[in-house]
Amino acid sequence: MSKVTNNLFRSEPANVEPAWNDIATTRRPKSSKTILVAGGAGFLGSHLCEQLIRNGHRVVCADNFSTGMPENVRHLRSSGAFTLLRHDVVDPIDLRVDEIYNLACPASPPHYQADPIHTTKTSVFGSLNLLELAFRYGARIFQASTSEVYGDPNVHPQVETYWGNVNPFGPRSCYDEGKRCAETLFHDFNRVRGVEIKIVRIFNTYGPRMRPDDGRVISNFIVQALRGEDITIYGDGSQTRSFCFVDDLIDGFQRMMASPPSLTGPVNLGNPVEFTVAELADQVLALTGSRSRIVRRPLPTDDPRQRRPDISQAMRQLGWQPKVVLAEGLKQTIAYFDAVLTAKRHRIAEVA
Ligand code: NAD
Ligand code: UDP
Repeated sequence: MSKVTNNLFRSEPANVEPAWNDIATTRRPKSSKTILVAGGAGFLGSHLCEQLIRNGHRVVCADNFSTGMPENVRHLRSSGAFTLLRHDVVDPIDLRVDEIYNLACPASPPHYQADPIHTTKTSVFGSLNLLELAFRYGARIFQASTSEVYGDPNVHPQVETYWGNVNPFGPRSCYDEGKRCAETLFHDFNRVRGVEIKIVRIFNTYGPRMRPDDGRVISNFIVQALRGEDITIYGDGSQTRSFCFVDDLIDGFQRMMASPPSLTGPVNLGNPVEFTVAELADQVLALTGSRSRIVRRPLPTDDPRQRRPDISQAMRQLGWQPKVVLAEGLKQTIAYFDAVLTAKRHRIAEVA
């Protein structure tokens, strides 16, 4: 584990965030906790770190920067309550903390399939190491599980009691089975050692700070539309997903962490409004005003045919449901990518 230097921050692309001066003046209440966010420099993790700091907590972000970037959390340095560590969760870590969020794991299919053995290790050894840490310091621990534990589901919408339909050795298995084993470890540490656990199963979530090269459908379609490139629909576009905006999800995370010890999860978190991938492409084209063509590409192996969360449990036990509709979330995400791509074009023009 090594502390990240300012030089590393400076080596990253230009910041497209608004000013975050208010972060520096955030008051720290007496109830302030020290919270470890593993995978905190990624898309979801950076939003979570930001919200925890706004709520007056001290945050330690541990990340191996495989898909995340120091730039995503750069603005949090001025708070004086933020520490960034380069650390791979496959290795043990020892820090006195009150709470742990485990978000460390690549989430996009091309990224988690790039080094599938490390992906499995990340979910299994990573969870084991963080659960040991939680046990050592009596910390409450949260696991970012996934709708992928349902595989290509035969039950629709997916309820938490459904055990899923997962291929144990296909190209997605490193992610799906790794996350399933992590859920097993969490429940066993709870049963055998009394560790307080919180598991959420996240359904497709999008928003600012996804990488332009992330590879997931919303970032791909928006970047392709903004660049005037072909929009790549895999298969015939009739497969469905339900898309949740990042702000709604982070609200759900915090409600889950603050819930009574008896609520261990898994609890589904996602937006229950379902779209086909073809409908998503049409919305992105309409909102960007792009003239990109739609082209078809082969459907990846084991690509789930349909996905929609049943969120009754989250509504009942956490008082949570998403507020941001797809068109609104897409507008914010398009504005973000537009700024990122424009900044990139300017940098290239300066160098040329
Ligand atoms: P992301 O790839 O942007 O973030 C993952 C972060 O974990 C990155 O910062 C990455 O560098 C870090 N990481 C990866 N392996 C690590 C390791 N071995 N040690 C330390 N850090 C490591 O993805 P995201 O969308 O922000 O996803 C965050 C978490 O939420 C992941 O665990 C993912 O499985 C889960 N999740 C996300 C979604 C979604 O739609 N965004 C859906 C289901 C589950
Ligand atoms: N997809 C697509 N074009 C892309 C990227 C993805 O049609 O450029 C499809 C993909 O095959 C899947 C859906 O969009 O059916 C969601 O894919 P994503 O990788 O975002 O998430 P996941 O498959 O993990 O739900």
